[in-house]
Amino acid sequence: MPVQAGLRFCRCPGCDATEADNPLAWSPAKPDVLTCRRCGITVPNEHFPAKVENKVAAESVEVRPGTVHTYPFHVVEPERQSYPDERVYLSAKRDYEAREFLAKAVLYAAVRFHEQPPRQRDPALARLACVLLLRFAQVYPAYAVHFDQCGQTKHFQKADLPPPYRRGYRTAKWDWSGCLDVPLNLVIAYALMRDDPALADAGRLLGDPHPAQTIERDLFRASAEFVRRQPDMATEESLYAYRGMLAVGRLLGDQALIRESTARINGFAEQGFFHDGLWREGDAQAQRRVMALLDGWIGRLLNGTLDAVPMLGPGPLGRRCRADRSPARLRSSRPRGRRRRPGRCRAIPRCWAVLGWSGWPSDRVPTPSTWNSRAWATSEARTSTGWA
Ligand SMILES: [Zn+2]
Repeated sequence: MPVQAGLRFCRCPGCDATEADNPLAWSPAKPDVLTCRRCGITVPNEHFPAKVENKVAAESVEVRPGTVHTYPFHVVEPERQSYPDERVYLSAKRDYEAREFLAKAVLYAAVRFHEQPPRQRDPALARLACVLLLRFAQVYPAYAVHFDQCGQTKHFQKADLPPPYRRGYRTAKWDWSGCLDVPLNLVIAYALMRDDPALADAGRLLGDPHPAQTIERDLFRASAEFVRRQPDMATEESLYAYRGMLAVGRLLGDQALIRESTARINGFAEQGFFHDGLWREGDAQAQRRVMALLDGWIGRLLNGTLDAVPMLGPGPLGRRCRADRSPARLRSSRPRGRRRRPGRCRAIPRCWAVLGWSGWPSDRVPTPSTWNSRAWATSEARTSTGWA
């Protein structure tokens, strides 16, 4: 389990593959190294990061009083740099990939456990999901707040950095963007596992007498609060932020968080669309992504909350919305008559019932055969399916 925040954007130090190419792959079979998909090099090795005066250069940041996190780096030769003072943080990239993998493993273990017949459930799956969930909640508070954007110098700051944060969700803690800070995989997994006795076992194993409280307070509330305090420019990224806040609000029954997210979505709907229902940024792909998020995720998270949420006053959602209709139906541009295929995964819809969801948002539900595929692991696939 990575105890330090990782970095997503990292080039290969051995070839010309750039940060945008995302060339470095990680696998649990070789947890200490990354392998370049283009040139095949494994790093770190004796050449990378290069030693200066017999020592690998490293950046240190005091994430909390008395706790220092260290980020070793390799300085790219000046003639190969894509931007000034380009550094390759191999350990941080490895931590990023390991964290991504483990967060998915938590979700898949929880889902598989719930799909097994009640008397034949494998307790090892529940234990795995609960131990990793709790461990994430233990390490998350010390993750360095960081700046991790493609083609730009990376920065690390203390873990409890207060606002103001950078615009455009460029101040991050869990992932590379602040709008993705709520770990949705873990929210879903926790919704499935929180009543299971395995959670108390995980607490005993990791020395925590109140595991549920730790997970809810130190991971979910903290990450939702980090997202809530980001500057909100009502852009496409904002939808990921609202989704995370709403998911935590529904998971924990936090009415204030639900009200605030709903109010922001209302404002988004007022500002973001032309009269004909087109998203203001105007290109077809952005339109599809925005509608998929609104229809698929946010609509379902809002569904069932409208009676309880009086914040939906004037504005596109409030004006057109009736409590007996899903807000997912309100916005326009999905072609009429095109129906979503029902989800293949049974456990996740059950879990969304806990969160207030009425069904699976996409016909691209992960199945065991796709879990390990590289396509699924790429951010593009995750983004297109609404998973982050
Ligand atoms: Zn390479």
